[in-house]
Amino acid sequence: MQLQDSLGRPLRDLRISITDRCNFRCTYCMPRENFGPEHVFLEKEEILSYEEMASVVASLIPLGLAKVRITGGEPLLRRDLSVFIAMLRELDSELDIALTTNAVLLERHAESLFKSGLNRITVSLDAIDTDLFQAITDSRNTPEEIFRGIETAQKIGLPVKINCVLKKGVNESQIIPLTQACIDRKITVRFIEFMDVGTTNNWNLDSVMSGEEVRQVLRDHFGPLVPKASAHPSDVARLWSLVDGSMIGFIESVTKPFCGDCSRARLSAHGSIYTCLFSEQGFDLRSILRFGANTEDIATVIRDIWTHRGDRYSELRTQLKETRQPVEMSFIGG
Ligand code: SAM
Ligand code: SF4
Ligand code: SF4
Repeated sequence: MQLQDSLGRPLRDLRISITDRCNFRCTYCMPRENFGPEHVFLEKEEILSYEEMASVVASLIPLGLAKVRITGGEPLLRRDLSVFIAMLRELDSELDIALTTNAVLLERHAESLFKSGLNRITVSLDAIDTDLFQAITDSRNTPEEIFRGIETAQKIGLPVKINCVLKKGVNESQIIPLTQACIDRKITVRFIEFMDVGTTNNWNLDSVMSGEEVRQVLRDHFGPLVPKASAHPSDVARLWSLVDGSMIGFIESVTKPFCGDCSRARLSAHGSIYTCLFSEQGFDLRSILRFGANTEDIATVIRDIWTHRGDRYSELRTQLKETRQPVEMSFIGG
């Protein structure tokens, strides 16, 4: 039976954060001032096991779940990720299984991920200029390493998209070179509006580069852009095509909110369900999982949570701001 929330939206998509740790300290996501040596990450026993995560997925498939996205923190830091992917694949041969990663470790893991049943990968890449890349990620890695991982994945047949978060005054200089690099490699790039998630990234509206502003930069360089129809209403990216047929995506969560079609739930590494990226609180599933709940018990709990869901934060953003303390992005995985 298809589940619907209080606004008639199904639960089609689950994003699972499998770790709260990361090998980058992106300034807008895990700034080192807040995620330095004194930061307390989750202990191993606080994090859901792969079996526990798989049982949440198993409980949701009969309720209409069609897609799982594995994220983090940095998901490739967690050991034996391909074992988890194989578990999910075993549950449902049709399940769409995707991974969001910074791709530092992709070259090493791409093949085993593919063999265990991963369908596709989204790589986050905000700059292809090395100095800027290192400044944004607060790391010593390079865009070349990221592209090596991408090429390995493409060679073995894993489709790859690139997501780029743009922040005004930081990386708008990368729009043209990143788009050109993606055209050359036949990769769809998606530009994401910088969002006010979490409490540590000093968000303000002036720092948001809107999708329309990005399209204008692209038109000035590449010529006309033509909007394309989405394959599915819950697709977060709106696609536009350049004259040569290259596709560019725009995730305009700030200027064109898409809450009306939002069918996404999020499972944090410590086992809470969040019904919105901007939720202040999750619903604890770990306790019931460790109390011996079976998939039907979990389904009953999630059905109750989802039928009461009325989240539409992005549509209400301007009325709600100031007093809220939404959960950090690295915790529930974007
Ligand atoms: N570490 C992995 C990665 O970077 O792909 C997965 C987790 S990361 C939290 C998932 C996505 O969230 C990344 O594409 C990142 O750019 C995006 N993200 C983080 N903070 C954001 C923000 N404030 N606004 C928009 N996107 C953000
Ligand atoms: Fe890590 Fe991804 Fe956040 Fe960057 S965006 S700090 S890579 S979790
Ligand atoms: Fe979905 Fe919440 Fe984002 Fe709206 S603000 S699209 S409800 S996650």
